[in-house]
Amino acid sequence: MAQAKYTTHLGMVDILPDDVRKWQFLEKLIREEAHKFNFEEIRTPIMEQTELIVRGLGQLTDIVSKEIFSFSRGEDNYVLRPELTAPVVRSYVENHLDQRGGSQKLYYIGPMFRAERPQKGRQRQFHQFGLEVLGSNDAVADVEVIAFMIHIYNKIGITNTTLKLNSIGDPESRDKYKEALKAYLKPNFEKLSDLSKKRYDKNPLRILDSKEEEDQPFIKNSPVITDYLNEDSLAHYAKVKEYLTDLNIDFEEDPYLVRGMDYYTQTAFELISPDLGAQDALAGGGRYDLLVEEIGGQPTPAVGFAAGMERLLIACEELGIELGTEKKVDVYIVTLGDAARKWGLSQLPKLRERGISTTMDYMGRSMKAQMKDANRENAQFAIIVGENELNEGKYTFRNMKVSEESSLSFEEILKRMEN
Ligand code: AMP
Repeated sequence: MAQAKYTTHLGMVDILPDDVRKWQFLEKLIREEAHKFNFEEIRTPIMEQTELIVRGLGQLTDIVSKEIFSFSRGEDNYVLRPELTAPVVRSYVENHLDQRGGSQKLYYIGPMFRAERPQKGRQRQFHQFGLEVLGSNDAVADVEVIAFMIHIYNKIGITNTTLKLNSIGDPESRDKYKEALKAYLKPNFEKLSDLSKKRYDKNPLRILDSKEEEDQPFIKNSPVITDYLNEDSLAHYAKVKEYLTDLNIDFEEDPYLVRGMDYYTQTAFELISPDLGAQDALAGGGRYDLLVEEIGGQPTPAVGFAAGMERLLIACEELGIELGTEKKVDVYIVTLGDAARKWGLSQLPKLRERGISTTMDYMGRSMKAQMKDANRENAQFAIIVGENELNEGKYTFRNMKVSEESSLSFEEILKRMEN
């Protein structure tokens, strides 16, 4: 085959029709389940103001400093959204969604963009689904969010997962912990990786996320945040664990599961799959009680998660889970001659209006080629019509699966189809 003149960008992939059916299957399932949990969909623009994503130099973390696609046009700075929590919060504040009353329970599905180095399970355009609950500080919200996340994977048949859970407490607890962590790391500061050295003052918690070999011995023995939680934080964490246990949701406490950004609070969690290889996180989330205020709203507690669609599909593939998505069409109208072709074309809407999917030849092919095409399209039935059939008002109705034919009027065919 000739080399294509134009190709997609690195880390951005086409989702072709045979795969789109899998995506649609999953998207439908996610939407249906989200509605069962009484969540409403929110759709925000693909592009946001760069300032929303890069909020002040204090928040300049790895994701925002290196990994965003941004450009400017005139006075305006645009960024392709790398995630949806900040955009959803922006929308909540901008549109005064709090005035709808109660807590806002929102879900989303859509593309995100990060200029990362692509590898299996890591793309530059990828897709996430997720939930955000705004306006509740109750552990019930944390647990419903986690329960929904696990429920989706279980429903699909991905049950071999581990839920990692931690609490990073409130700012008071975290400040105490940061000091303890820095004091512990200080004697070995010179032995830390360059990245961790940089993080030491700005964001010491992120050192715990380090994948660098030289950091591992220090991470392994470092103090844990759960020893520094104040009373309120401990109480919240205890409730989350209690409710998860009530729901029979297994979890593994991981005191090193932390979040770099200051707006994160309390519960942090991640869902891991052994079927994914190096990029083993299916989904992650937690509380971010300080973000709404940071984005200019009233102080509003919030919790959510985001899950990668591509990784969900990889897990399905690894586990041999079929997403029930065979290509097929209910009826193929096979015609011989111009008059039959005209007749066929005018019957298509009548079938479709009854919810029957239907098609006919678009290429002026022979009857034999049309029958072959009907098979290729996985047509369940064919209506075969030539001049004689037109004159008699009786058409050959063929069940393609069992190769059975009868001669029927169009009304009789419709009746058969409805059964
Ligand atoms: P995060 O927003 O970084 O917490 O990511 C949430 C989830 O999105 C991860 O657990 C992954 O499943 C997925 N994800 C994050 N980054 C990528 C990426 N570059 N490519 C594919 N999936 C990703």
